[in-house]
Amino acid sequence: MTNLIQLQQVSKIYESDAGQFSALKNINLQIGTGEFVAIIGRSGSGKSTLLNVLTGIDQPSHGSVRVQQQMIHQMNESQLASWRGRTMGIVFQFFQLIPTLTIAENLALAMDFVNVIPKAKRGQRIHQLLQQVGIEKQANKFPASLSGGEQQRAAIARAMANKPDVIVADEPTGNLDSQTAESIMQLFKDLVDQGKTVLVVTHEQASLKHFHRVIRLHDGEIQDAASAPEPVTAVQQEAC
Ligand code: ADP
Ligand code: MG
Repeated sequence: MTNLIQLQQVSKIYESDAGQFSALKNINLQIGTGEFVAIIGRSGSGKSTLLNVLTGIDQPSHGSVRVQQQMIHQMNESQLASWRGRTMGIVFQFFQLIPTLTIAENLALAMDFVNVIPKAKRGQRIHQLLQQVGIEKQANKFPASLSGGEQQRAAIARAMANKPDVIVADEPTGNLDSQTAESIMQLFKDLVDQGKTVLVVTHEQASLKHFHRVIRLHDGEIQDAASAPEPVTAVQQEAC
């Protein structure tokens, strides 16, 4: 398996009036192409900070972050924005679809920003993506008229719009009922089966069985990073 993402001695220190706070402490982590990785841990353990550092949304205070051949901690903001748009598909807990645009227009906007899919092919690609996530009938509706599960499907289709190699999702099922959450996890699994590398921050204990690897954060440190299925049981017992 090719080493796709590599974090070496990464720390993140937030400065505030109250002083310094270490949200990530000396993180060493490798993720291979095609891996399906869960990131778990209590609220405040550093999960979102970790995702933000490896997508370049946030800069580490120390250490290096390499994705494919790019040292992303060395890029400036505009290089990062362009790189992220081409390489990373990002999915959020509250979907973050633009409410004044239809579902199809939300996907079209994501394609306009990055401009990797030729204009003439975008309409067809939007149709295919919405079909893939099972909401092709909702293409011309506004986000508010869709259920939470459908909105998250739309957000996943949008994350896929520019054919990124990596999908990262920060508590994508945190606002969904358990049955819908399971169907969303299945969708991520389908993406892994198609060759994508997928990282998901999750609280869904029942879903952990799907993942190749479960990484648990505790106070900004990785507690264990082992292969499933054995460690999953241990993780489930000490629920996050
Ligand atoms: P999680 O996603 O696991 O809930 P986060 O990565 O969001 O945790 O946050 C980790 C810790 O860093 C928390 O204690 C949080 O309060 C702190 N933190 C996050 N962002 C900031 C910030 N911008 N400034 C100061 N502290 C922050
Ligand atoms: Mg978080």
